[in-house]
Amino acid sequence: MVLNELGARINSALHALSKEPVIDEKAVDALLREICTALLESDVNVRLVQQLRQNVRKRINMDELSASANKRKVIQTAVFDELCTLVDPGVQPWVPRKGKQNVVMFVGLQGSGKTTSCTKLAAYYKRKGMKVGLVCADTFRAGAFDQLRQNASRAHIPYYGSYTEADPVLIAMEGVKQFKKDKFDLIIVDTSGRHKQEMELFAEMQQIAKAVRPDNTVFVMDGTIGQAADSQARAFKETVDIGSIIITKMDGHAKGGGAISAVAATGSPIIFIGTGEHMHDLDKFSARPFVSKMLGMGDISGLVETVQDLQLDKNEDMIKNLAKGVFTLKDMRDQLQSILKMGPLSKIMGMMPGMSPDMMQGFDAEEGTRRLRSYMCIFDSMTENELTSDGKLFDDENRLKRVARGSGVRPVDVQALLHQHRQFGQIVKKMGGPEGMLSKMNPAM
Ligand code: GDP
Repeated sequence: MVLNELGARINSALHALSKEPVIDEKAVDALLREICTALLESDVNVRLVQQLRQNVRKRINMDELSASANKRKVIQTAVFDELCTLVDPGVQPWVPRKGKQNVVMFVGLQGSGKTTSCTKLAAYYKRKGMKVGLVCADTFRAGAFDQLRQNASRAHIPYYGSYTEADPVLIAMEGVKQFKKDKFDLIIVDTSGRHKQEMELFAEMQQIAKAVRPDNTVFVMDGTIGQAADSQARAFKETVDIGSIIITKMDGHAKGGGAISAVAATGSPIIFIGTGEHMHDLDKFSARPFVSKMLGMGDISGLVETVQDLQLDKNEDMIKNLAKGVFTLKDMRDQLQSILKMGPLSKIMGMMPGMSPDMMQGFDAEEGTRRLRSYMCIFDSMTENELTSDGKLFDDENRLKRVARGSGVRPVDVQALLHQHRQFGQIVKKMGGPEGMLSKMNPAM
């Protein structure tokens, strides 16, 4: 059962409860049975599921409940809080501080997504204005350095590694030394993995940790591994001092239970989850928004951070235009480009409150993203004069055909874009102008 399905099932159990004519012990037990079965089928450790059941049971006092006006809300809150407790060890996550040379070591099994997550984390903190360097101390897997080098180059992040040195401890030490000398804020060390937990891997991890003295050790775990998560996380925790967890592949068939079990086994907080293979597919993790999103209640804090990361304040021209009630084709292009930068539409939709997993099923996010990309091609075929216009220039059929040819679409597709632009334009006209609400907005917003 994937994470969305788990959320949908818990939700439907809670809804079913509201339809019960009497909410008594029997109804609460039936609800808990359904939730616990769903959690077990999502590979949450049996011990944890039992604990959740007992805790919710303890919190719901039947006598008080019968006097309460909104029984469903009381029960829902208890279930919600206990689900949060499962993924929250109650420890403040470590965050690197700018100006201090923070060293972070990544550990995990081969294929868990370590190298990919290293670059994602580096890119994340680079966006926050930090000077970040990557060290490849994975000499076990052939091609590991090449992979890190390529990823790092794409993200314009300095890296260190060696094609000839076979000792990962020496590479790690040298890389950290060089980046420290150059006053880097954050130095991320990627270590080797193995196919399974074995002594050699653990000995190597300990030696590297001793050599580079990391401020934090991040354990990277594949979110799709299910029940094996508990023993894997325990084995790593016993060897090195795990400070944080990153769960990867939460976009695919991850059941979520693995993530929950890893937190319980290590007592360490999840700091990020990987939601795809792309560099930006890394979501900051907090227990409450995570559970809220899982249950289809939206993740406003995630959405706000995504929007903030885009640095939309660069669009001053557009804000001035909007305040005047003007909306050019270029304004529309910049808006759509920002949406594309936020990541796949499905992810953005998932952060919206009220978008339950059921509702998402009817939404073809891939088709939406494809359409946006085709619009970008159409904009690219326009001249600056056309872009800064209100679109009326395209009443000239030859012009319309030229843009269609240039962008490899049919003239009717260009017309569809112009039609949408006209619709947006009408709204902007109403809201803008000297009397409109947009003109009263602070441009800094
Ligand atoms: P490593 O051996 O632990 O360094 O693992 P890699 O970083 O090489 O990742 C193994 C595979 O998992 C690669 O194909 C990655 O593209 C893929 N991967 C990593 N993180 C994610 C993720 O969050 N989602 C998806 N779908 N794939 C991921």
